[in-house]
This record gives sequence, C-alpha cells and structure tokens, in this order.
Amino acid sequence: MDIYSKKIIVVVLAILLLGSSIISAQDNYLSIVIPEDKETTTTLSKYRLAANTLPKSSAELNGKKLKVYSSGAVVDLMKLEIGVNEFELESVHNGVKVTETFTITREKKEIESTPNDVVILEEEMILPNKDLWLDAGDILKVRVKGTPNANVTFMDNIKMIELPTKETKGIAGIYTGVYKVSAQIDIEKIPIKFKIEKDGESFERTTKAKVSMLPNTLPRVGITKGDRPFLNYGLGTDRLGGAKLAYLEEGIKLSIDGKVGDQYRVKLAENQTAWIPEDQVKLLPVGTFPPKSLTEAWAVYGGSESDKVIIRLNEKLPFSTRQELNPTRIIVDIYGATANTNWITQHLTTEAVKNLYYEQVEENLFRVIIEPTHKQIWGYNIGYSGNALEISIKKQPSILKISNLKFVLDAGHGGNNRGSLGATGLLEKDFTLDMVNRLETALKEKGATVFKTREDDTFSRNSERLNKIASFEADILISIHANSIGYSTDPKRVSGTSTYYKHIAFRSLSLAIYKRMLELELNEFGNIGNFNFTLNSPTEIPNVLVETAFMSNPNDEMKMMDGVFKEKMVRQIVQGIQDWLYECEDGLN
Ligand SMILES: [Zn+2]
Repeated sequence: MDIYSKKIIVVVLAILLLGSSIISAQDNYLSIVIPEDKETTTTLSKYRLAANTLPKSSAELNGKKLKVYSSGAVVDLMKLEIGVNEFELESVHNGVKVTETFTITREKKEIESTPNDVVILEEEMILPNKDLWLDAGDILKVRVKGTPNANVTFMDNIKMIELPTKETKGIAGIYTGVYKVSAQIDIEKIPIKFKIEKDGESFERTTKAKVSMLPNTLPRVGITKGDRPFLNYGLGTDRLGGAKLAYLEEGIKLSIDGKVGDQYRVKLAENQTAWIPEDQVKLLPVGTFPPKSLTEAWAVYGGSESDKVIIRLNEKLPFSTRQELNPTRIIVDIYGATANTNWITQHLTTEAVKNLYYEQVEENLFRVIIEPTHKQIWGYNIGYSGNALEISIKKQPSILKISNLKFVLDAGHGGNNRGSLGATGLLEKDFTLDMVNRLETALKEKGATVFKTREDDTFSRNSERLNKIASFEADILISIHANSIGYSTDPKRVSGTSTYYKHIAFRSLSLAIYKRMLELELNEFGNIGNFNFTLNSPTEIPNVLVETAFMSNPNDEMKMMDGVFKEKMVRQIVQGIQDWLYECEDGLN
C-alpha cells in the first residue's frame, strides 16, 4: 500500500473517531505541515507554507486564493514584515469552511550604525570572536563597531581604520586592524583590548575570545582519535559541514601550527594546510618531534578480490586521496614523507593495478600514483597496518551483470529523523524506505544480492550506516533521498531530479542514473559533484545519491505518492545501472 492510500485511511479513521465533536469534520479538513508550530519566530523575510485539505476545495491565505492540487496540497511563499505576522488559512469544500490560524514573528537582523551622541564600542561584530593560536607570521585580524568618526586603537595603541560605508552596506563606525605575529612575541590566552577616543571622551572594550601567540611552542604534535577523524580544507561550513580533504583513522600524527575556535590548523606540507576539530585530536607534549618519515621499499601483489600496495613508513602519517580520469589514476598523497624508495616489487599476480610510481612533489609531500587496469575504479581502501600504509584496490567484477553483483541500498532518514516534508504530510523517511524496498525487489528479480542499511522505520547515524556498508562487502551503494527547498524558497519554483557523487571516479554511475531519471516527467535539477554527503565519501565502493524529486514541490510530490510512478523511477534507476555496466565492458585504461 502506498503512503497516499495510508494517509486517506488515516484521515477517514480520524473523521470516524472524532465523529461530530469537530464541526464539519466529515465534510472538510485542513492540516498545516509547515510552519510546524502555531507560533514561529524567524529572521527570514519569506516563509514556506505547506498544508493539505480535501481535493477540490478552494483555499485562501489571508484572503489570497491559493491553488488546491489534486493531492489536496496547498503551498505558498509567505512574505513577512518585521514583527508579528498573522495568517489565516481557510479551506471551503461544498460550503463547509475550515480555518487554521498561525503567526510568524520576523525578528530584525539588520545591524545599525552606532549613534553619534555617545562614545562607545559595541559587542556585536567584534573580532576575534573565537579563541586563537597564532604562529609567527600569522596575521591577527581585529574588528569592532562603535561611534563613527573616532580614533580607535587595539592592543598597544595600534591604529585601526574606519571602513567606508560603501563597503559596509551603509553602516558607519566599523573599524578594522591587523597585526602580524613576530617570532619574538610570547602571549598566552589574552583578550584583545580596543580603545575609542572622541571629543575628549574614551571607552574600552575587550574581546571574550582569547588570543595566544605561540611562535616558540608551535608546531605542536597531535594524534588523531575517534571514529573516522577528518581533515577539512578550510574553516568554511554549510549544511553538511565544511569541504573535506580527507578521512583518516585513529593514531595518525599531525603537525598543528594554529587554532581557531575548536579547529586546529594542521600543517601538511610546505604549501598545504588543513583543519581538524579539536575533539578528534589528542595533543602530545611540547617537544614531541613533528611527524616525518622516509619511505622504504614497496610491494605490490594480487589477492582474490583486490590488489595490495604496501608502503612502509616509520610512523603513521596523514594522507589524502583523489582520482583522475582519462587516463584513470588513483592519487594518494602522504604528508611528511620523503622518498627513499629505490625498490618497487611488482608481482604479476596483480589484476586491478596496471602500473604505479611516485613523485616527491615538494618537501613533505610524497605522491603515490596508481594506474588501474580498467577505466572504472571499483573501489579502494587506504589504511595502516602497523606503520605500513596499505592501499587495497578492488578488481573489476569478471561478469558485469546485475545478477552477478551485490548492492547496498540506503533509505535516507528513519525513526525520529523524518527528512523533508511534503505538503500532503508525506514524509521523506517513508518514501525512501518504500523506494528502497521496490528497488530491492527489482534488483533481486534480476538475480542480484541486495543488502539494506535499514529495514524498517528506525534511525541510524551515517557513521553506523558506513560501518554496515563496509561489512556487507558489496559492489555498488545506492542512497535514496527526496529533495526539499529551505524555508524561504518558493516551493512551486524548485522541482526535479538530481544525482550526487563526491569522487570523480564515481561520476559515471551517477550520470548514467541521472540520464535515465530524466526520461521521466521530471525537471532537470542537476548531476552534482564533490558533494559532501557522508555516504558519498567512501572510496571503497562506487556510490551514488539519488535525490529522486522534490517533496516540497506539489507536482513532484504527487508523482512520489503514485505507486506507478515510483515503479517507473525504480525501472530507470535499474536501467541506469545497466547502462553503466555496459560502459564498463570495454573499459581498459
Ligand atoms: Zn534526505
């Protein structure tokens, strides 16, 4: 039974149970999905409405007529004024009117200039706003907002400049300054003091953040801890976290030469830094040698499912990996390593690896380059066994048929984690499980072996899902989700299907499925690369995230409620996998 039928039954049951206790419930109803509460507070200037009523009703929001879709969905993008916005949503069916009211309070977000009549420095906009560790040569950047046209200094009388208002969206009185940390200085955990002077009056303010200038004790050495510690390229962040440079493992030594808030800066090589959350690192005592190793002889040999490259080091150094296409290459950078490899033993038992070599890119950056036998990479794992870095490269399956392959299907969300919400009350977690079950049936009909990351309506964290995926030792991972806009976008405007990958080696799979999905009546949202979704992160298995369509879009939602359409999507996904396997057929690298 699909979710839409379930929903109708639930509504009918509710009506039967409630009987005449709710006026006109037998003849009409109205349910608001978003906003989720009767009273909402936001800084957004627009807000999404998602609601449902009986099909063929007429709906109005504050007197404005809204379309009622044949699913009963009613959506809109509501404009918000500063302060309390009152809304009344009304549905009329056969003369029976149902009304729901709610409020959204829009808080002011804009920052205003500090008034001229008082000499003051304010808390808002102050920088640094996070604790810092700075090394010699680092630049301390400071900012403070206060009375315009004043003399503002920081630390020991260092002059700050007032930014022109054309650079600050019209806000006067924003002052900035910089200070370059010298090798002589030694400061631990001090707040930065600002002083403003104007017309004989003055005022001082200090930062809550504390700054340490540690040229004599940096770099410190840290050692990674916990499950899947990772390195980010920078301090940027978004909904899924900052862009990831690498996933590591426990026990890897890092050279740490700075800190911003709760992120350590890691010096990887002469010209490369990365960032790691402090809870993933244990600091070793001052005086510990920075991580460094010579590389020794290598061995390369074949196993039953994969080939192994073994690179011996003196200690566990950080590494990162990426791939290149045309020709296909697996690149593994080892930071802190210097070549002393004069001996690479290549056994002819290898099947996945055609050739390999290395390059000393610069001091502390040792690059391993592996040319696979086939154009398509079927997955590889990098990890330490003792102090030896082992790279296992999976062989291409000998029979490229669905019947010969093992799949892991991942239904997004589950349990308390509902995922996105459709206007009719459709939940992403239910839709994804239904789709995965249908996909399982379709693949099993073709003879495939299928594993699933969840079987029922329970929640599991992505890290748990990753462990499960690894334990299945499958060939292909497919994650199913449904897309949604945020709260401030017009639900009618954004729709369509999309597929996602992180590693370029797996783009071909995501593209093959995407092309097949586009044969359905779905708009093109895109084939999206370098995506920071946890289940797109493994290099161990070709993987793709399929964001089938937009739950937030009423037209897409109706398709996602339709069993026939769901079967069509499943067929297209299977066809996409089939296309990709054909592509792999003639694929010598
Ligand atoms: Zn999702």
